[in-house]
Amino acid sequence: MCGIVGYTGKNAALPYLLEGLSRLEYRGYDSAGIAVIENSRIDVTRTGGSLSLLEEKLAPFLPGTAKTGIGHTRWATHGAPTEQNAHPHLSRSGLFAVVHNGIIENYTELKEQLVSDGFSFSSQTDTEVIAQLLEKNYDGSFHGTVRKTAAMLSGSFALAVLCRNEPDSIVCIRKESPLVLGKNENGVFLASDSSALLRHTKDVFRLENNESVLIENGELHFFAPDGSEEEKKSIHLNRSAHDAEKNGYSHFMLKEIFEEPAAFRNTVAPFLKNGRIEFSGFSPTKEEVKKISRVIITACGSAYHVGIAGKYAIERLAKLPCEAEIASEFRYRSPVLDERTLVVVISQSGETADSLAALRMAKEKGAKVLSVVNVPESTIANESDSVIYTAAGPEIAVATTKAYCAQLGVVYLLAAFLAFEREENGKGELQSFIREIRQIPEKLSRALDYAQEAQQTAKQLASLEHIYYIGRQSDFAAAAEASLKMKEISYIHCEAYAAGELKHGTISLIEKGTLVVAHACCDRMFEKTVSNIREVKARGARVLAVTTKKHLKELSDMEYVLTVPETDELLFPVLEAVPLQLLAFHTALLRGCSVDKPRNLAKSVTVE
Ligand code: GLU
Repeated sequence: MCGIVGYTGKNAALPYLLEGLSRLEYRGYDSAGIAVIENSRIDVTRTGGSLSLLEEKLAPFLPGTAKTGIGHTRWATHGAPTEQNAHPHLSRSGLFAVVHNGIIENYTELKEQLVSDGFSFSSQTDTEVIAQLLEKNYDGSFHGTVRKTAAMLSGSFALAVLCRNEPDSIVCIRKESPLVLGKNENGVFLASDSSALLRHTKDVFRLENNESVLIENGELHFFAPDGSEEEKKSIHLNRSAHDAEKNGYSHFMLKEIFEEPAAFRNTVAPFLKNGRIEFSGFSPTKEEVKKISRVIITACGSAYHVGIAGKYAIERLAKLPCEAEIASEFRYRSPVLDERTLVVVISQSGETADSLAALRMAKEKGAKVLSVVNVPESTIANESDSVIYTAAGPEIAVATTKAYCAQLGVVYLLAAFLAFEREENGKGELQSFIREIRQIPEKLSRALDYAQEAQQTAKQLASLEHIYYIGRQSDFAAAAEASLKMKEISYIHCEAYAAGELKHGTISLIEKGTLVVAHACCDRMFEKTVSNIREVKARGARVLAVTTKKHLKELSDMEYVLTVPETDELLFPVLEAVPLQLLAFHTALLRGCSVDKPRNLAKSVTVE
């Protein structure tokens, strides 16, 4: 989840390292550090807190003369986010410096052994055992020692290592956590995320599990898991560093919300051909589709909420049994899967550890896995039987907005595609569903216009401690996402409930003044939801209704209202997202929260 960067070449390393870290800061940002090597000495600078503190500390030394170095922004798993726990970690005599992304699961045993060997520790991290173990294992070969050490580690790791005895080299190895490398006329660059390389090259090498690389005098030497040297092909990236800039917006989140119409259009348009759906990365024959007996959508966080919306769409349109499963639970269950089960894994980064584990479990049990990811060179994309890409572009704000919308676009198309191929649905209904999908980008733009009032409404929410979100069917999927968005960036305690569930317990929490956000867009469920609204109002709740214009009359006594354009019931979650994301954004701003980088969170959740 953290960011790793590295550089070795003909220029000063420090400016490259700091620039690279700033591109990765959204992935982890509770402490940071760099190590550079020069004159047979490794110099480490670290700080607790944000990257800007590290930049301040290093400002007097810029650009520096060292030409090789590594850097890290941390998302703490073991030990508080202090300077002492920040990476890079040095080995006992300063022979090795290491930055690490991931978790070493056997670090306690390793640490005990190292302590009995006379090593002492200055941090609480699992990472420091790697540094000391490198020193213990050192046999004169830098690369060999890193490989030997990595073989003793269980858990997940991407490592970049410096060795004092080899000042022009960096060694990297990885297992489960991503690492990419690239090269240009100035030198070799490495990072845990290709967004940090885009400025320097668009051709990157992706290290696979247990592969290692020795970067020596500007050359990359790749080694296969068995230790033999291998040739590696680069992947070309089709995006520019500019895509990941704020372009005049105050926050990435705001920019990304306004990019939703384009993200949705760019994702679905290439797959819509003459009233039919053709995915480039998923093209089963009609017979293969007919063999599918059920669909399981598995994901985490917002992507799981996409799964809930997808379940409703697949059931209604394709008439296939479909379940949405939280990946961190699903991976440890004993689900009965077979080759007739289609497992759909949704992940923006394509690196989400729990979703990746669910994918592997499903494949092992014989299911076919289709993934929906936003990053083509990601591990989940690589390991799936087929992939559908969302074209949301880089998403930098930690709280997802446009990638969520694009994922919804894909599950809607998937539902329609399965329905077509199974010939399970009246052509008329499907055609009108697809017509509605085509109109979503324009309706998203309209939703953005309507949502101006969210800024005003936010003023009424900013001092609250609790908010309850309710809805039925698609409105429930929308409520679940709206609640998560609000809590993750404003730190207000929020819960979402299927509206009918409220009276089975939670209604006891409703008292005078409690705010309930009631999603009431789906016509079929409207009267039922209104009954639930009446129940909470009777107990003193204030209600913010999210609805369409035609229902305004029936909801004229609501304290607050946000409206969205009309659409097919299944598609409401994508439109309802707009005002609710903006509401969360403005509420968080009023509360003085760090909107793009909320506390304790990180963008790409590569630990379980
Ligand atoms: N487990 C390591 C630590 O807590 C690395 C965490 C990360 O990936 O940032 O320091």
